[in-house]
Amino acid sequence: MSLVLDHVSYSYPGTTQGLHDISLDVRTGELVAVIGPSGSGKSTLLKLVSGLETGHSGRIALDGEDLSHKPVHRRHIGMVFQSYALFPHLDVLDNVAYGLKLRKVPAAERHRRAQELLDVVGLGDYARRAVAQLSGGQQQRVALARALAIDPRALLLDEPLSALDASVRGHLRDQIRAIQQRFNATTLLVTHDQEEALTMADRVAVMQDGRLLQIAPPRELYEHPANRTVARFVGLSTLLPGTVCASDRVDLGFAELAAPTGTRTPGTAVHVLIRPEHIQADPPAGGLNRLTGRTGARRYLGSLTRYDFEVPGAGIPFLAESAWPAREAIGIAPAHVRLLDD
Ligand code: ADP
Repeated sequence: MSLVLDHVSYSYPGTTQGLHDISLDVRTGELVAVIGPSGSGKSTLLKLVSGLETGHSGRIALDGEDLSHKPVHRRHIGMVFQSYALFPHLDVLDNVAYGLKLRKVPAAERHRRAQELLDVVGLGDYARRAVAQLSGGQQQRVALARALAIDPRALLLDEPLSALDASVRGHLRDQIRAIQQRFNATTLLVTHDQEEALTMADRVAVMQDGRLLQIAPPRELYEHPANRTVARFVGLSTLLPGTVCASDRVDLGFAELAAPTGTRTPGTAVHVLIRPEHIQADPPAGGLNRLTGRTGARRYLGSLTRYDFEVPGAGIPFLAESAWPAREAIGIAPAHVRLLDD
């Protein structure tokens, strides 16, 4: 089942807020994570796909079938929300079986199926418990089992882990991903947690102001962000304005760096992006892209130290990570100096 959004736009009545010309596809069995600042349109996107919000322009289709005029319950989409939204008056098994009951699946069959899914999410022994007796993480696994029970054509996960403690989140993240892959479920995951997006998703879509800025596999997004907003939103970095001054050279005002300039001509304004792990502490003298200065603030992170390296004239410090902070110089391999055009 592939989910396709083709030039989808939507405005909340009486406003200009909503979505602007979103095109993206989620391939069969793929998990696409949608990230972006608060108000960027992530929830609106999910609401339109689920049918909770209607009246968009453009096309939303599941395996080629246009969903526009289908009510929520006929779209056959499984949903898991931030709040577990389980029925408190039903026990765990009946919560999972609920969607099957609506679809008039006979009791024995729906209970067998619900039990099977509880086994999959590791809650096989909790079938007859009241939902209030479960922890947050367990309730969210019940919600996932309930979403999968209807054999959905697509799965929508709306901040499924954000109400949980950090200690539960990491483990549940792996579990959800494993189950999603086992069911080959075509999945859209909305999250404000970039680590969650990068670790769980096949591809990550970055949104801002109702627009899709970039969609790419996690590594590509991190290493080749399309613009400064994406670069800032995904991972840590140092971003500095500069000008291409010759082939494979960029002038930052306070220093020149060797960098792959591609087809850009001298005089082109760019921003230079450097990730903290690409900054080398105290490289040998005389090497390329060696900048002298001093280490400012440092944060000890156990396996490494993250620190600010202040280069005279730079205006902002270089954010670096290495086993120990630089004493007098940092170096950046030219291939790790990325140029952005905005
Ligand atoms: P996100 O999920 O990324 O935080 P939303 O999809 O909730 O963003 O919101 C996108 C934009 O639409 C925001 O500017 C928000 O203020 C606006 N918006 C959301 N819901 C409504 C609504 N019911 N009525 C009017 N505007 C809304």
